[in-house]
Amino acid sequence: MTYHPKKSVLLDFTQGEDCTIHAPVWIGNKVKIGDRCKIQAFAFIPEGVTIGDDVFIGPHVCFTNDKYPPSTNWSETVVEDGVSIGANATILPGIRIGKGAMVGAGAVVSRNVEANTTVFGNPATKHYSYKCELCQKNFMTEDKRGARFCSRRCYNLAWSDPIKKQELGLVPQDYKITSKYKEYQANCEKRKIDFSLSFDQFKSFWQIPCFYCDEKMDGIGLDRVDNNIGYKIDNIVSCCWECNRLKGNLDQEVFFEQVKRIYQNVHAT
Ligand SMILES: [Zn+2]
Ligand SMILES: [Zn+2]
Repeated sequence: MTYHPKKSVLLDFTQGEDCTIHAPVWIGNKVKIGDRCKIQAFAFIPEGVTIGDDVFIGPHVCFTNDKYPPSTNWSETVVEDGVSIGANATILPGIRIGKGAMVGAGAVVSRNVEANTTVFGNPATKHYSYKCELCQKNFMTEDKRGARFCSRRCYNLAWSDPIKKQELGLVPQDYKITSKYKEYQANCEKRKIDFSLSFDQFKSFWQIPCFYCDEKMDGIGLDRVDNNIGYKIDNIVSCCWECNRLKGNLDQEVFFEQVKRIYQNVHAT
């Protein structure tokens, strides 16, 4: 053990082997410290605290032991083996921190901590670790049912990019596609156009870039190549709103001719 007794307040406590205690610290009466613990400077460990083996206590960690001050009824706080407590954490009286748990820096621990979990915040809550599917960074959140993105920023980025969205399997639930499918069907019925796309065929055009201008598409747009024929799988292409407007009721060949004429005319020298 290494410490500077003159700078620390070290009352009648016990400790195991190979501990490192950085001065100045305050360790109270009857405090028990296990083997191979590391206690950083300015830790405050009053009477009532029991610390297991291989525990790390960061700088300025403050254990409190008096629930209703001022009193002399110290609460018992137990820190089990292998626990790590970050700098500046405050542990309220009567807490048990389970084996292998991690307490984040600055946490205010007001409830028992389960073994092998990570808590932080004020009041300290259990956090779960995930990997962001967009930026690949590891992150932690209170959400135990799973989280896919580390931040609102990554979430927004993933959703606003149709290609990324598809890659990450963020395609909207089938109900969105189903309602669009029904919309197309109803529309065709009204306009007396033959519609013979199966749902799966329809779905395969969801978020496919525009056939004409290659614009990314959020949702679906279909154009009939030959406007005399209905919506059949070999007569449709993906088509954005703008291209659909330009093409109007023209057949594909006529449309291309028109575009070509416009281009040649405008660029004619
Ligand atoms: Zn991210
Ligand atoms: Zn287009």
